[in-house]
Amino acid sequence: MIEKTEEEIELLRQSALLVSKTLAEVGILVRPGVTTYELDVRAEEFIRDNGGKPAFKGYRGFPATLCTSVNGQVVHGIPSKNTVLKDGDIVSLDCGVLLNGYCGDSAYTFEVGEVNESTRRLLRITKECLFKGIEAATAKNRIGDVGYAVQQHAESNTYSVVRELVGHGIGTQVHEKPDVPNYGRRGTGVKLLKNMVLCIEPMINKGRRHIVEERDGWTIRTKDNEPSAHFELTVAVGDQRADTLSTFAFIEEKLKFNLAS
Ligand code: MG
Ligand code: MG
Repeated sequence: MIEKTEEEIELLRQSALLVSKTLAEVGILVRPGVTTYELDVRAEEFIRDNGGKPAFKGYRGFPATLCTSVNGQVVHGIPSKNTVLKDGDIVSLDCGVLLNGYCGDSAYTFEVGEVNESTRRLLRITKECLFKGIEAATAKNRIGDVGYAVQQHAESNTYSVVRELVGHGIGTQVHEKPDVPNYGRRGTGVKLLKNMVLCIEPMINKGRRHIVEERDGWTIRTKDNEPSAHFELTVAVGDQRADTLSTFAFIEEKLKFNLAS
């Protein structure tokens, strides 16, 4: 069923909150010198301690709990003991959980140490793109309205939108119908219905939109090696506004504390 019941939405909210808290737990470890493997270990431990299971581990053979994508990597980076984060890097952490039979999926791009101003702008605009997309996720709009809102904001700020990878519905499966592209034309595509639950996840490049797959068969990177940012939240479509089930509040609370300490 493409629309969820109120009970299912509450279960999805629990999964969304667990994944939101996991990203905050892992986010406080992000600093120069940490490996993406260490981040992955902490994510899995936190999910299991809270009664969940990693949803990406084993999904089509993916080997880890997190996707960790650094700088020009867009998504699906594999955590590794050999990937040591350096001052000035950015790293997208994308996490999926399964809790009580329902999935959560969220992503946030973190700064490692001191990041240059132009890359920080990419992160800020990409996050804004996500919230523009969420604003468009109302009943009677169409999927193309969401994509249009994201694309418009990215391109008017000189960035480009990755086309080959898209957001998605979520429920008992991590990827359900419909696809949620980050580009589109107003008034086109699948009609949005109240209580459809969508993962909106702009992948925005500083340079050109083109991507390539690395030799590991998973990692997607920008063809021009320019940085790419990725933020993802889960929302339930509403009549007037979407109900945002996952949140960056835990992450941003902890980051503020980290900066202050
Ligand atoms: Mg994700
Ligand atoms: Mg997703």
